[in-house]
Amino acid sequence: MSKVFDLKSLIRSQNFIGGEWTDAQDGARFAVTNPATGETLVEVPDSGAADARAATDAAARALPAWRNLLPKERGAILHRWNALILANQDALGQLISLEQGKPLAEGRGETVYGASYVAWFADEATRIYGDIIPQQQRGKRMMAVKEPIGVVAAITPWNFPLAMIARKIAPALAAGCTVVAKPAEDTPLTALALVMLAHEAGVPAGALNIITASREKTVPAVGDWLADGRVRKITFTGSTPVGKYLARESAATLKKLSLELGGNAPFIVFDDADLDAAVTGLLAAKFRNGGQTCVCPNRVYVQAGVYEQFGKLLSERVSALKVAPATDPAAQIGPMINARAIDKIARHVDDALAHGARVLAGGKRLPELGVNYFAPTVLADATSAMELNQEETFGPVVPLFRFVDEAEAIQAANDTAFGLASYFYSQDLRRIDRVSRALEAGIVGINEGALASEAAPFGGVKESGYGREGSKYGLDDYLSIKYLCQGGL
Ligand code: ADP
Repeated sequence: MSKVFDLKSLIRSQNFIGGEWTDAQDGARFAVTNPATGETLVEVPDSGAADARAATDAAARALPAWRNLLPKERGAILHRWNALILANQDALGQLISLEQGKPLAEGRGETVYGASYVAWFADEATRIYGDIIPQQQRGKRMMAVKEPIGVVAAITPWNFPLAMIARKIAPALAAGCTVVAKPAEDTPLTALALVMLAHEAGVPAGALNIITASREKTVPAVGDWLADGRVRKITFTGSTPVGKYLARESAATLKKLSLELGGNAPFIVFDDADLDAAVTGLLAAKFRNGGQTCVCPNRVYVQAGVYEQFGKLLSERVSALKVAPATDPAAQIGPMINARAIDKIARHVDDALAHGARVLAGGKRLPELGVNYFAPTVLADATSAMELNQEETFGPVVPLFRFVDEAEAIQAANDTAFGLASYFYSQDLRRIDRVSRALEAGIVGINEGALASEAAPFGGVKESGYGREGSKYGLDDYLSIKYLCQGGL
């Protein structure tokens, strides 16, 4: 039986380095706040370069023993970690809601989803196959074997405080790598709790280290990892500008990178779609986490013949969504993460209205609930001149663009620097084949709004990044191929 902790004992307020809970070396701290109220929850270390260095030292020391365990021994530890996460899903769900703001049911759902990656990679650890290359030259045998890449630095965002870090740490540890991690400054508590449970599960001292830092101190702390030749890989989920910065700055030590960056997902509804299914799929894809996910549809293209009808069906459902703090069991949409986020949403809506958009639902902040709340919004008559066409809104706003034919929809959908998720609804088999091939995206939802799964490869093309998380492909990001050539045979 896995040990069950109460919420209070899951809240950690120190770094975890080399198996010890420690403060920042200079004693600095910063506050973690509840986005629903603005209240300080707890203070955590504001770590700098010296703390990042200590974490790398510990990870480098732990690497030889960890990589030499049998894959099934590493897998067994990961399975225990998975069981502990699942056993503590209520408190972890509460903690996610507390620091991130998503409704409790979503917090618990994220916990189960994050755990699924741990279980998946616990099993995948035992399937790291190589190849014996068919003989090419007499007297020689050639083999390709896969090895852990080394110390991995994981840098994660605030929108899924548990799942994003779990799906980096789990494959890294499964592959035999050791980890240094830095969670987002808005949501470090869930990550610290997860690391505590990993330690409880038997992940040895130094194999998994975590430091917390404010946005200002993140630059020198992560900078130390970028410059350190012992850190062989950066795995990052976050914004495209930061992803490009990490790629540039890590070039001096030529690290391998996995970058899961921003999206600007199109969602296309053709005349021949099942409209009710399309509305349901859009609601699921768009309003999860209040619209704050990188696979949320950002631009919804609706064919002219069904445009008005779709707008009406959608706005009825959107107007009925319940906006409330996570503590309200009926909440479907919580507060946005911070002032920066809500200001961007309001700016996008104001800009769209100034360019002729029509409000079908919502369209405004909800100050009666708190400073970070925005009403779920549907805007008709969206055009490519609007800011929300260029840039991810990352909030509960659906702009509806009108299109006439398939070629126009595909051209518009692909007219972006990004290429993470895309979605379309159609019941025509030939169209389904054509459109799924034409969309420039790493992920395509066909008559489906819920795409994420530990068994599927998640990742983008173009400026949405590279690398894949989850699935049998997810381990490759943490492995390098070694070629062995044995002569004299
Ligand atoms: P968002 O805009 O969604 O907060 P960011 O890309 O800014 O996304 O943040 C994602 C993660 O990257 C967070 O952990 C954040 O602290 C970190 N981060 C932000 N700026 C930098 C930077 N200059 N160097 C390294 N990490 C950074």
